[in-house]
Amino acid sequence: MNDIDSIKAGLATDDPTEFPKHVEELYEWLKTTNDPWRNQRAAGALLDVACSKERNLEVRLLAVNALPVIGDKVPEELKRLIGVCDEEDEPLRLRWAAVDLLQAFNPELIKMLIYHKDLFDRTIDPDNPPPKLNVSDEISKIAEKQKREMKFYPLIALMIFGGMMGTYFAFNTDYFRYVIAGWTALVIVSIILAVVMPRRCPKCRRFFARVKLECVDSYSGPSMPIGSLGTGGSPVHTSQRVNVYEVRCRFCKHPWVILR
Ligand SMILES: [Zn+2]
Repeated sequence: MNDIDSIKAGLATDDPTEFPKHVEELYEWLKTTNDPWRNQRAAGALLDVACSKERNLEVRLLAVNALPVIGDKVPEELKRLIGVCDEEDEPLRLRWAAVDLLQAFNPELIKMLIYHKDLFDRTIDPDNPPPKLNVSDEISKIAEKQKREMKFYPLIALMIFGGMMGTYFAFNTDYFRYVIAGWTALVIVSIILAVVMPRRCPKCRRFFARVKLECVDSYSGPSMPIGSLGTGGSPVHTSQRVNVYEVRCRFCKHPWVILR
């Protein structure tokens, strides 16, 4: 007859083919022992394996998958899995297994984890999860891009003005219809730029790839004067709230940030 210490020594194996045998021994021990703390001890032995980063991933998964047998008897012990779920460096597959176990036996604990969206979004590949976005980094990148684009605004205004003058002088001439065609083309191109391009994935370049508008942050935009309180009164400013959304590519799962 095995005792818990020799079973624990057996569970120290990092061989995924060997490990289930020792789990069986553990189940056997649970049935035959009178140890009042048997369920806690058994859960502890499995959780030691599941929670130690140095162990083989397969073996850690096997340990998590062995826990449902006693899960309902030791819901409190399962708290230790919170650490695994919380740690974003841990393999996502393991974190999913841990969060599923908590969901089944101690769903109260899940409340602490709801901010980890990757724990619940099962559309991603757990063995190859998309990179984590640093939202503030992404926002400063967008700001820089807008600053670069601002240089072109006077040029665009000048071109529109020139275009309008051209249209005015072309009125009642033979080539007026070409001018109209030009404007139509310009409108179509603008629509494409405004509607189609923002939905294109910046990584795999596929069109209509953007999914899931998820608000991750918001901040006050620049302050704008909207009028004043009576004559000579102090000006009234308003600032629009800018929402930061995290979106994802439907095809390659690449994440990026947009502002609204
Ligand atoms: Zn993509």
